[in-house]
Amino acid sequence: LVVLDNVNKHFGALHVLQDIDLTIARGEVVVVIGPSGSGKSTLCRTINRLETVDSGSISIDGKPLPQEGKPLAKLRADVGMVFQAFNLFAHKTVLENVMLGQTKVRRTDKQAAEKKARALLDRVGVGNQADKYPAQLSGGQQQRVAIARALAMDPKVMLFDEPTSALDPEMINEVLEVMKQLADEGMTMVVVTHEMGFARSAANRVVFMSDGRIVEEATPDQFFNNPRSDRAKDFLAKIL
Ligand code: ATP
Ligand code: MG
Repeated sequence: LVVLDNVNKHFGALHVLQDIDLTIARGEVVVVIGPSGSGKSTLCRTINRLETVDSGSISIDGKPLPQEGKPLAKLRADVGMVFQAFNLFAHKTVLENVMLGQTKVRRTDKQAAEKKARALLDRVGVGNQADKYPAQLSGGQQQRVAIARALAMDPKVMLFDEPTSALDPEMINEVLEVMKQLADEGMTMVVVTHEMGFARSAANRVVFMSDGRIVEEATPDQFFNNPRSDRAKDFLAKIL
């Protein structure tokens, strides 16, 4: 579904993505882990073209990523993204947040958009918060709204960049549970996270990045029990 072929990117002198080859199959859940600054967020951001690449190619469904205009807006809808900061529109209600992309990008009529938004809010467990503003919700609730907003676009793939790292501990699980449910339902997902429990239970594959490279790719079992590279061993020793 998503194919990165020999992707390279620089920020000035920094070679932030180096010869990245990565293929994500439909329905696959790929967890990306690695030290701070290794390029995980940049990798995610290239997949929905929040960042351009210097060389190599990225395609979704066999088509290269569009450059601009309406096709780019459609790409951003097809590739749902949930960030560490919830990025909800502060001056719109929860319901409006989940309706907006549907009416603007997908051209869904208002009634249908509202129906779908309410169903999705129920699904992520915040159906009773629909008329509130984001600031009136807890972090965990806001993040679940952000997930519902992305899902409202019927994305082909969902990218999660440390979706729980800004949350208080007691709210982390409610977000991970929604993500686990999505994974079980067959959503194609790329998840950058330090939540190793989630990686073990939900990932089909773990991708370990270090210094802009994919150093290791393995099943969670292989990766956690038997990492091959010294860099992965060092990393795991620090976090586990
Ligand atoms: P973290 O775990 O801290 O989130 P990361 O693996 O997500 O790290 P990136 O955010 O992808 O890492 O950043 C990789 C490197 O690129 C870092 O050294 C960072 O400082 C640099 N970088 C990221 N974005 C930019 C930018 N817009 N301009 C210049 N340098 C950048
Ligand atoms: Mg990051």
